Amino acid sequence: MPAKVDVNTCTGCTSCVDACPAEAIEIENDKAKIIAADCVDCETCVDECPAGAISME
Ligand code: SF4
Ligand code: SF4
Repeated sequence: MPAKVDVNTCTGCTSCVDACPAEAIEIENDKAKIIAADCVDCETCVDECPAGAISME
């Protein structure tokens, strides 16, 4: 399953956008948004997020 962002926890820091090898994360309304169709389930963003806002569904 693709990664999932908790928008209430996300600070919009963009670290995950830079870290994602599949370019599957974009910032929308100052929050990260996973493009599920592009996510390759690598979990890199889960480890990179300083806020702990990303989990695997
Ligand atoms: S799990 Fe990997 S491919 Fe999917 S959004 Fe996170 S960093 Fe990108
Ligand atoms: S790394 Fe975490 S806090 Fe930063 S934009 Fe991504 S989901 Fe939000």
